[in-house]
Amino acid sequence: MNTNKTALVTGANKGIGFAIAEQLGNHGFTVAIGARDDGRRAVAVENLRGKGIDAFGVPLDVTSDASVANAASLIAGTTGRLDVLVNNAGIGGNSAGGAQDPTTLDLSVVHTVLDTNVFGAVRVTNALLPLLSAAPSPRIVNVSSNMGSLELHTGPIMAAYAPSKAMLNAITVQYARRFADSNIIINVCCPGYVSTDFTGHNSARTPTQGAAIAVHLATLPDDGPRGGFFDDSGPIPW
Ligand code: NDP
Repeated sequence: MNTNKTALVTGANKGIGFAIAEQLGNHGFTVAIGARDDGRRAVAVENLRGKGIDAFGVPLDVTSDASVANAASLIAGTTGRLDVLVNNAGIGGNSAGGAQDPTTLDLSVVHTVLDTNVFGAVRVTNALLPLLSAAPSPRIVNVSSNMGSLELHTGPIMAAYAPSKAMLNAITVQYARRFADSNIIINVCCPGYVSTDFTGHNSARTPTQGAAIAVHLATLPDDGPRGGFFDDSGPIPW
């Protein structure tokens, strides 16, 4: 077994996921770069290795049971351990920043968004749970959005995306209850409004800044918070 802690970040080839992988690598983790596109994944791995980070690529489409099962096998065979899982892969369901009007909603878009943002996180978490459970201090971080807050009503109307993040939050709470008597700590975070392809780079906030809260939750001590929703400023209203 690798003596380095290993972290898997989904959707790590660009944006916030890449920045999370880079920061975890700088914390001494071996980082598994989960990405569905072979070319983009290879470029990301080479980029991180060029910065002195121990990274390896993991072909991963979070919407595919087979892909997720293969990813779990590949990590088991490569480092033999998994200490941190960051469920970061996510889609908006339309072009960057576009509104999703509930009164004209295309339900196939809802299905696609849920499949990635919610079912994807569950699929990956459950497939990696045997490896995570064997780690001394496992951490799971789900990357959500304050648009999923039922209290804040923030951001544009996005009737597929925002509820998908509300459901991701809700499922995180269920996992936290399930893990209450275990050493697995799970939390959910909002990275803030970050300049990525997702937002059309329409923000001054960098992916490095957006990644910080996920990295913080991925490296919590054993007495850290469980089942919470956080951004840089602290707890977010559900
Ligand atoms: P990007 O669009 O830059 O990156 C999204 C990543 O997810 C890409 O690597 C993409 O891969 C990957 N991905 C999408 N679908 C799948 C899939 N089925 N399987 C595997 N990987 C997939 O977005 P951000 O970095 O901005 O977003 C990252 C997370 O942060 C998302 O969950 C998003 O909802 C959340 N978030 C972002 C905010 C922001 O302001 N940017 C604000 C709040 C939350 P590929 O390159 O192949 O498409």
